[in-house]
Formats: sequence, structure tokens, C-alpha cells
Amino acid sequence: MLPEIDVKRRSLEKLFHEHGYSDFKWIDAKKIIVSHWVRMKCLYGCKEYGNTCCCPPNVPSVQECERFFHEYETAVIFHFSKKLDKPEDRHEWTKGVNQKLSKLEREVFVSGFEKAFLLFMDTCTFCDECASKRENCNHPRLARPAPEALAVDVFSTVKQYGFPINVLSDYSQEMNRYAFLMIE
Ligand code: SF4
Repeated sequence: MLPEIDVKRRSLEKLFHEHGYSDFKWIDAKKIIVSHWVRMKCLYGCKEYGNTCCCPPNVPSVQECERFFHEYETAVIFHFSKKLDKPEDRHEWTKGVNQKLSKLEREVFVSGFEKAFLLFMDTCTFCDECASKRENCNHPRLARPAPEALAVDVFSTVKQYGFPINVLSDYSQEMNRYAFLMIE
């Protein structure tokens, strides 16, 4: 008989495959790296700062983020790669990916994983124009932060698991993006 943890993983993997995901890896949630430099990049240099409901400063402090991740043992990283002809297409691509992931988070939750929490592949782009303040969000039940918004060093974290990731210098290069699903 399989140990309980393997049974749970198999049932979730079945769900992931049913939703069309095959490029994912189970990870030790304790290996998610949270760093202050990531928050600095949000504060200085990102146009989303203060302009979206799920980005700083509308998120917990870095210390609170660390505490949040320490409450989990298991998570899954989903990998998405894409080359876009036009930079302006990124909004729609991101929106579609995150909407699908939202449905998956819901199914994982109702299948008995009460701590299931999704970190979007990219900033929430459900609306053409973000309400900017969390309390005004148009989809408060669905909107989630991206890992970077919670100070996750996505580069260092995904490299531990052999995923590809590089700094890109222009839009002609393929993007490697990642969503995290915190499980339990
Ligand atoms: S659902 Fe709309 S208002 Fe809420 S975070 Fe996403 S884009 Fe902003």
C-alpha cells in the first residue's frame, strides 16, 4: 500500500493533468527563498508598485511573507514558457494563464487541501485597469499575488529544481515564467 503522501500527490497530479498541466515539479516549501532584494526591486524600478492590488505596498511585509511560507511543507511550481510577437500581448497571455490556474487552486482546495494558495504566474491582469487598492479589487476572491510580490527570489528558487530562467534583454527572447501553488 502506498504511503498517504504518495496517494495525495497522485490524486493532485491527476488533477493537474486533467487541467492540462504537465510541466510542474513538487518542491519542499522550505526551499522557497524569500529575500529583501526582491522587495527593493518592487520599490525602485517597477511600474506596478502602488498600481495593482496584489503588488507592494498592498501585500504583507517581507517578514510576514517569510512566516507565511514557513507554514507550508509542500508546494508545486508550474513552468510556462512563451515567446510573444508583441510585448502588448503579454497582458492577455498572463490573464488566460492565471484564470486557468485560479480554477485549479479552487479544485485543489475543495478536494481537501484547506491551505491551498496560488501565487500567480505574473501580476494579476484580470482587469484592463487594476483598481490599485486591495479594498477596491474587482475580483477579491480570485486575485492573487505573483511570487515576486511576496518577495520570493524566483530565480534562485526555481534553479534549485533545474528549471530554466535567465534575465532577458528584449521581447524576442523566450520567457520562462513560474506560478507556485502552496499545498499544505
Ligand atoms: S482582479 Fe482586477 S482589480 Fe483585482 S488585482 Fe486583479 S487586475 Fe487588479
